[in-house]
Amino acid sequence: KVTPEKPASAPKEGGEGVKISSRDRVVFPESGQTKGELADYYAAVAPLMLPFVGRRPVSLVRCPQGRSRKCFFQKHDSGSFGDSVHHVPIKEKDGGSEDYLYVEDARGLLQCVQMGTIEFHGWGARTSDVEAPDKMIFDLDPDEGLDFGDVKQAASDIKARLSDIGLVSFAMLSGGKGVHVIVPLETGHSWEAHKDFARRFAEALSLAEPDRFTATMSKAKRKGKIFIDWLRNQRGSTAVVPYSARARTGAPVAVPIAWDELKKMQDAKPFSIDDADKLHERAQDKALSGWGFAAQTLPDV
Ligand code: ATP
Ligand code: MN
Ligand code: MN
Repeated sequence: KVTPEKPASAPKEGGEGVKISSRDRVVFPESGQTKGELADYYAAVAPLMLPFVGRRPVSLVRCPQGRSRKCFFQKHDSGSFGDSVHHVPIKEKDGGSEDYLYVEDARGLLQCVQMGTIEFHGWGARTSDVEAPDKMIFDLDPDEGLDFGDVKQAASDIKARLSDIGLVSFAMLSGGKGVHVIVPLETGHSWEAHKDFARRFAEALSLAEPDRFTATMSKAKRKGKIFIDWLRNQRGSTAVVPYSARARTGAPVAVPIAWDELKKMQDAKPFSIDDADKLHERAQDKALSGWGFAAQTLPDV
């Protein structure tokens, strides 16, 4: 009787009993991290991440052959993910309905990773009521060539403007080029109201300081400016969730950051999927306690 050789990359029980196949497949060619390492990262940060990603419709950036090959943005269920990747039917504009995906535990996250997911993007509403947004996000997108210092200044100016109208906000480094300013909100306003508020807020900033800010997506109008992307706040939009890895060079991750700490940052990608331990330590830090949570309502203005 011949015992077959163990293949180089035998499926191995990842965290939560999810079999991760091709653990040795390099997903991030520039820095060398493998699918197995990506799975280990998500298993490690799941407790930090789930409060922000759990029970929200999610879209996935999947790159089954690694980030240098074809990647796609998946919004709907293809039926094949696994028992901990759930569906939530959401009405489409045309009157039909589509099954969106959601997870609620580490097993669900890892089943997505097994299917080649690198990034998790979440709705600003929970599966319990997808018509009831519970956050507002200002995604600051700098024009190429702008200094990260300009992005930091913009983020803290936005924080101050929000504070003027009584709103607490939090900063997240996107793991890419920009900063997201996140305003947790109690539900009670419609998507229309959220979108309208976010648009007017962004337009007011660009009117006040047209040399620094633009509220129009057009790249041509962004020259030397920061686009305050308020479009994350319309029904159906998503934004990358805290602790998601990014399908970008060096395997960076999106991370919560305290306002004071932001001042010292050199760029929007100081941490990578190699830093799960550091991210756990940071999460214990007083400066980050309560990050992303506030009981407050969108003002009626
Ligand atoms: P950066 O800081 O580099 O801007 P980011 O995550 O903010 O990083 P953006 O390009 O500003 O990136 O944001 C795009 C947003 O649009 C993402 O957060 C995501 O949720 C969504 N998105 C990304 N790809 C697609 C896609 N193919 N189709 C629809 N929405 C997408
Ligand atoms: Mn952005
Ligand atoms: Mn954007």
